[in-house]
Amino acid sequence: MRPIQMVDLKTQYQKIKPEIDAAVIGVLESTAFINGKPVQDFAQHLSAYLGATHVIPCANGTDALQIAMMALDLQPGDEVITPSFTYIATTEVVALLRLTPVFVEVDARTFCMDAVALRKAITPKTKAIVPVHLYGQPANMEEIMQIANEHNLYVIEDNAQAIGADYYFKDGSSKKTGTIGHVGTTSFFPSKNLGGYGDGGAICTNDDALAAKMKMVANHGQSKRYYHDVVGCNSRLDTIQAAILNIKLRELDNYIAARRKAADYYDAAFANHPKITTPYRSENSKHVFHQYTLTLEGVNRDGLNEYLAMKNIPSMIYYPVPGHRQQMFASFNLAATQLSVTDWLTERVISLPIHTELDEEQLQYITAAVLEYVNQ
Ligand SMILES: *Cc1c(COP(=O)(O)O)cnc(C)c1O
Repeated sequence: MRPIQMVDLKTQYQKIKPEIDAAVIGVLESTAFINGKPVQDFAQHLSAYLGATHVIPCANGTDALQIAMMALDLQPGDEVITPSFTYIATTEVVALLRLTPVFVEVDARTFCMDAVALRKAITPKTKAIVPVHLYGQPANMEEIMQIANEHNLYVIEDNAQAIGADYYFKDGSSKKTGTIGHVGTTSFFPSKNLGGYGDGGAICTNDDALAAKMKMVANHGQSKRYYHDVVGCNSRLDTIQAAILNIKLRELDNYIAARRKAADYYDAAFANHPKITTPYRSENSKHVFHQYTLTLEGVNRDGLNEYLAMKNIPSMIYYPVPGHRQQMFASFNLAATQLSVTDWLTERVISLPIHTELDEEQLQYITAAVLEYVNQ
């Protein structure tokens, strides 16, 4: 059996190596390392794939969130509602920009922002909502958008973990995640579903004025070379990464299908187990399984993590400390922030290996080991 990894980037690379190598050498020979043609090509291809009018490539997924918030003219003290159960990048940028993070509860089934909690958290100071499509599971966007529209709030979708996921509305229409709110942000960190071979990120929107502003913010606030209208930053996707991502974008739907196939195998192996809850499969969306995360009840979760490691099976706890318990946010007076579902999940979730290269022998070995421990 091939060694089991959380993410197997090497085997994936071997399958597209000739194309990738040629693309990288092409950039080296062109020496157009900054804003070369592959960057514009990639923006166009991704906007066609997502069905979004504008895609603005940038340096990473954290910058994408920051640029979106800067372009929306949020002011210090404005409240931004986000889940606490997410990667730190989502909430860190809120504090970095001197905005006030307001942490809300997630739905225990989807791991994504709970719409009832969202509604309760809105105050006159609320300006924006940042739903996160955690683990590749789309958040409840229909309800979130309705609440946002009622209260005139911006919605920034953190789509770093769910690029390519579909969301189905009640009227039968569908959209890709990241294109439903006012802005969507994503990351091309190597382990993401559409991963580069280094850092990268992108922002998308259907709003022309906002797109122009975000382009400006990402480029030193400049509208015309050496004329700087607003305070911006320097955030670019480099040409080599764009050339690689152009090739990998063509594979994205295949990659998603491979992840879903592995998830189906796991689902079947753990079906109806009294101690294991498998990821929720919503009728309103298509999960893209950035992570395959179990919720355990009556199992020593950390014990399982160690047992699997002993059997050379990596597993991860995403995330052991939720945002509202991070020292980073101590100045925000979060003593009153009670998030019992988030705390509950933090102690019970475990993510198993999932990627595009898992084979049946590996899946069989992993599921057998999990069941061995859980059933002992
Ligand atoms: C990875 C990730 C980010 C940040 O992306 P980087 O490219 O690493 O900056 C933001 N939000 C979520 C939910 C992520 O998983």
